[in-house]
Amino acid sequence: MSERQVVTRIAPSPTGSMHIGTARTALFNWLYARRMGGKYLLRIEDTDRERSTEAAVKVILDGLNWLGLEPDETPVFQFARADRHREVALDLLARGDAYRDYMTPDELAEERERARAEGRVVRSPWRDHEGPVDEGRPHVIRLRAPQEGETRIDDQVKGEVVFRNVDLDDLILLRTDGTPTYNLAVVVDDHDMGVNHVIRGDDHLNNAARQTHIYQAMGWDTPVWAHLPMIHGPDGKKLSKRHGAQAVSEFDDMGYLPEALRNYLAKLGWGHGDDEIFSDAQACAWFDVRDVVGAPARLDWDKLNHLNN
Ligand code: GLU
Repeated sequence: MSERQVVTRIAPSPTGSMHIGTARTALFNWLYARRMGGKYLLRIEDTDRERSTEAAVKVILDGLNWLGLEPDETPVFQFARADRHREVALDLLARGDAYRDYMTPDELAEERERARAEGRVVRSPWRDHEGPVDEGRPHVIRLRAPQEGETRIDDQVKGEVVFRNVDLDDLILLRTDGTPTYNLAVVVDDHDMGVNHVIRGDDHLNNAARQTHIYQAMGWDTPVWAHLPMIHGPDGKKLSKRHGAQAVSEFDDMGYLPEALRNYLAKLGWGHGDDEIFSDAQACAWFDVRDVVGAPARLDWDKLNHLNN
């Protein structure tokens, strides 16, 4: 077993309210870091300049404060690190692990059509291009991802998940305007922040395979992955506004105690025997991300009301 200090993080995008799912991810990261004597960090993923707002950043910070889940260090803002993301993309290019792709939007659309008809992923002819290139011509930078073999994600919640590399296209690292993509930014930031446990929603499981390719190309250690199942409403369906997609601040307004909500969130996918109520100290001592169940968790507001009384 490695002796490294466990470093976890949450990486919310400040594009709206902070809902139950984000709060539970924060709680699990916080609990796991506490349990392992590690650190729990916050990164605000504000790279989407059109949708990210100051107000949404405040909602996240206030929500975490209210829940008692403040990060152990000053938050990192992703957009401010764009130069570093570009530096890594150019490094990959220099090593031959990335390439400039000059497909025009029309050519890309045609290739997408062909790929769909042939039942394969998009492949750029520029991957194998040899000879001089014109850096001034509009292009994206793509990772030269492996096309053979498999990528295995040994996930703490989902078990071993295997992706065939032939099913994964060469992901874009830098867009035509030079801005970094999510997958590049997240890997560079997690690496630079020393994050070695990535605990997040399972909507990011496919990204884990693609992100692994970036880690491998850079020669960096991949983190331990844990992808949490979605939270479903009492009706067994995806959360809706009516059923559980409430903002964390609304629970404060409704008079819930942060301890009750935290206790309730902890049990969305995790539990300790039949214990309904446990203290922070107990949760920190008991929590193990490997005990999180792989199936979607279901909200049951009666239980929350019970805890609050
Ligand atoms: N910013 C991403 C999101 O809000 C999270 C990325 C991650 O946890 O790796 O979905």
